[in-house]
Amino acid sequence: MHPVNQRERLPYQAIKTVVAVVAFVLVLRAPVVLAFGDDGHKIVGEIAWQRLSPAARTEVKRILESDPEYERFYESCIWADKIKSEGSWNWARRLHYVNIAKDAGAYVETRDCQEKQDCPDGIPCPSRNCVVAAIGYYRDVLKDPNSSDPDKLVALKFLGHFVGDVHQPLHAGFAHDKGGNDVRVLFFNNKTNLHRVWDSGMIRQSRKRWFDYARELSQSITADQHRAWTATLDPADWATESHKLVPEVYADIPRSAEIGEVYYREKLPMLEEQIKKGGVRLAALLNSVFAD
Ligand SMILES: [Zn+2]
Repeated sequence: MHPVNQRERLPYQAIKTVVAVVAFVLVLRAPVVLAFGDDGHKIVGEIAWQRLSPAARTEVKRILESDPEYERFYESCIWADKIKSEGSWNWARRLHYVNIAKDAGAYVETRDCQEKQDCPDGIPCPSRNCVVAAIGYYRDVLKDPNSSDPDKLVALKFLGHFVGDVHQPLHAGFAHDKGGNDVRVLFFNNKTNLHRVWDSGMIRQSRKRWFDYARELSQSITADQHRAWTATLDPADWATESHKLVPEVYADIPRSAEIGEVYYREKLPMLEEQIKKGGVRLAALLNSVFAD
């Protein structure tokens, strides 16, 4: 081989190596999705944002201005998952969900939401340990004229996230299998668990960009749906409603635990409706909090 050719090959090899290393590092850095995935939360946040009153938008923007990380409301809706890996926020992990007994029918606070024992100093923290209590509590922090702006910022970011979570049926599931986390499935041949399929798997399977998906879902919400979904703004009712959908989530999973196109097509409309409800209700909640 001609020596000139040999020299020309070297940079190409080097570039190939760099590309491979960068790709490997990106794979390592890919976030572990533990809750209603980033896209699900961003979609809920964006659907809500489009429905905020001028007064609520102004106040949400003002509160977010002091946030070092997030400029847009939809981005701030993923914060509660980002801090899960930080020990100082461990106390908030149980605020993402509620477990309800299998034949209970409805959420009951004294039975399903334990008193909270691990509140830190100086950060707003609910007195009970589940997503229903968290939504009610952070709504009240936002509403309270005596709350400081830093407290309101924490409350806003938690609220924007937890209203999404409570609409994922498996965030109001059963304790015995940790809301489907212990139910191993093969989803389109990928080893995962049922909880993850509902948090992020089905949304990813749509292969839509989150913003396009948000716009599509938002535009499909009718006035009748809006009216029906905002008839109650009590998070206990939302949890009960999600819980009642749980049997539907477990139905149609074969013994082989292989689910794919059939399951996806069958269940996606329910997931999409829950996401839409989450967005509409988050907006209604913030509009009521920031009513002028
Ligand atoms: Zn969550």
